[in-house]
Amino acid sequence: MSAKDPRSIRLSADLLPRDGRFGCGPSKVRDAQIEALAAAGRSLLGTSHRQAPVKNLVGSVRDGLRSLFSLPDGWEIVLGNGGSTVFWDVATFGLIRDTSEHLVFGEFSSKFAEAAAAAPHLGDPRVVKSDPGTHPDAVTDASVDVYAFTHNETSTGVMMNLTRPAGDGLVVVDATSAAGGLLWNPSEVDVYYFAPQKCFAADGGLWVAACSPRALDRIREINASKRWVPASLDLKIALDNSVANQTYNTPAVGTLVLFAEQVKWMNELGGLSACNARSQKSSSTLYSWAEARSWATPFVADPSKRSHVVGTIDIAAPGDGGVDANDVCTALRANGIVDTDSYRKLGRNQLRVGMFPAIDPDDVEALTVCIDRVVEQLQG
Ligand SMILES: *Cc1c(COP(=O)(O)O)cnc(C)c1O
Repeated sequence: MSAKDPRSIRLSADLLPRDGRFGCGPSKVRDAQIEALAAAGRSLLGTSHRQAPVKNLVGSVRDGLRSLFSLPDGWEIVLGNGGSTVFWDVATFGLIRDTSEHLVFGEFSSKFAEAAAAAPHLGDPRVVKSDPGTHPDAVTDASVDVYAFTHNETSTGVMMNLTRPAGDGLVVVDATSAAGGLLWNPSEVDVYYFAPQKCFAADGGLWVAACSPRALDRIREINASKRWVPASLDLKIALDNSVANQTYNTPAVGTLVLFAEQVKWMNELGGLSACNARSQKSSSTLYSWAEARSWATPFVADPSKRSHVVGTIDIAAPGDGGVDANDVCTALRANGIVDTDSYRKLGRNQLRVGMFPAIDPDDVEALTVCIDRVVEQLQG
């Protein structure tokens, strides 16, 4: 801790961002979404998910995502309960035939590899690993039937371009923090899965997977093979429910209302390219600010891999002209600016900033000014 108590630092109100939420999930929910939730009151909340009003809501999410991602004919949006973590188990049962290859470059990408390694019905997965702050490239292998990529590694702030390896392995992408903020081409991908508490600014608890016709064939093939699959993790059951705008068991209707409102806003903003432009504006502000400070450095060395949606900034150590990043976060929080903490298991003196489309690029600019003031005061 610095000599100065970070909780005693006061930033003048005119410097503060209009909204102080910079977390990477749950992330900022826009006011219009909260208003939509209140407006949905008696017509949707507290009503049956088997009746038309909630089915239409699910349908509007599915149609809205199809248009946001410009999905070709034949793709389906499949959804179920449990978030992206549960989808790793769903995929372990319902997408991997025998051998998966995992690009591991942080906490989230390692988890799916662990799930596949632990599954007794699968062969040993291939793991291609690189240090945090970088990403490895896929190694093409004819025996691989699923390539597991991560569009944006939320624990480190690394993004990767999605390109299909040669051969017929399915390309299955964890897009939890990328979906809605980064660009991708459906011809390079078979399954693009995520949860709604990051770019979609809703609550957690759902998983959503955009599935190509090849992925749908794989789901049917594994289903026909009579592999044992718990019903709540069964992708074929989830698919059959999703095409009827339903989920296998009861979803959180409030989450769906927030989600639908955000998808509508994103499409009205100009679709995926407009959303990505907003995040790019925020991220270029953040990275160029850090590069201009002697005590701050973008953690990701290669500028082309620096995420547009999750920024990670290393702070020099107190003995090195810098300050303790935890003190910066504490001082910011005392002023209503929250969740700028680094990913706990990465263990660096670092700030991490969510720059999802819902976050106003002007607020990222204001955040950088506030960090400057806090650091000045901590350095006393
Ligand atoms: C947040 C996150 C997850 C976990 O999502 P849950 O919905 O909490 O299970 C998985 N992968 C990535 C890349 C994430 O950012």
